Amino acid sequence: MTARMRLQPEAVGIGMTSQRVRDRLVDRLREVGIADEATLNAVRVVPRHLFIDEALASRAYEDTALPIGHGQTISQPWVVARMTEVVLAVAPKKVLEVGTGSGYQAAILGALGLEVFTVERIGDLLRQARKRFRHLGMNIRTKHDDGRVGWAEHGPYDAIVVTAAAPALVDALIDQLAVGGRLVAPVGGPGGQVLLQLTRLADGTIAQEELAPVSFVPLLPGMLD
Ligand code: SAH
Repeated sequence: MTARMRLQPEAVGIGMTSQRVRDRLVDRLREVGIADEATLNAVRVVPRHLFIDEALASRAYEDTALPIGHGQTISQPWVVARMTEVVLAVAPKKVLEVGTGSGYQAAILGALGLEVFTVERIGDLLRQARKRFRHLGMNIRTKHDDGRVGWAEHGPYDAIVVTAAAPALVDALIDQLAVGGRLVAPVGGPGGQVLLQLTRLADGTIAQEELAPVSFVPLLPGMLD
């Protein structure tokens, strides 16, 4: 664990077995191409089983998305790790996540010492995520809102991670990206989505790159309790 990882060990509540299965997940992520050591270390220290229902806890360290209620999912570890290493490459300090869901992706970013802001449209999911952050002693700023408008008050952000798919990139989010900053987002419909990386260059223009085919739940308008 590096000095930047500030999880309280007593809050994690895991035995040797859990640490071993988590280490196996890290090995698996390496095999599928995740190379950034800080990202892999964050996966090693953040207890994913605390971000899902107890009934599914035995599957927490499989490289698969799992249901979290309200028709939503905790993202597949590979995709969380990939988005994390992609934004870490620009050495961000402040990051905005759209789509808190279980809170796992936000916790990974928080464990890396980033200042994390996260927005979720479903109040019930956000309340559960807040409890998890508190339990782990993580200071993550949350907001119940339609995240398609971003969180302008705290912008611009060095990194923006969107964890739900829209048919097209959302301009309001791109506007909140700092110079040198990077946004990663799944874009596309049910027919197929691709993970896009956008980087705001020194002259203000945006460079865009396609990273991989992915499958996310949709980015939806409005808010729910
Ligand atoms: N990052 C999450 C992934 C959750 S799935 C995790 O690590 O668990 C995507 C989440 O995006 C869902 O919780 C969904 O409710 C949320 N979402 C969808 N549209 C949204 C919007 N417009 N604003 C904020 N959150 C949204």
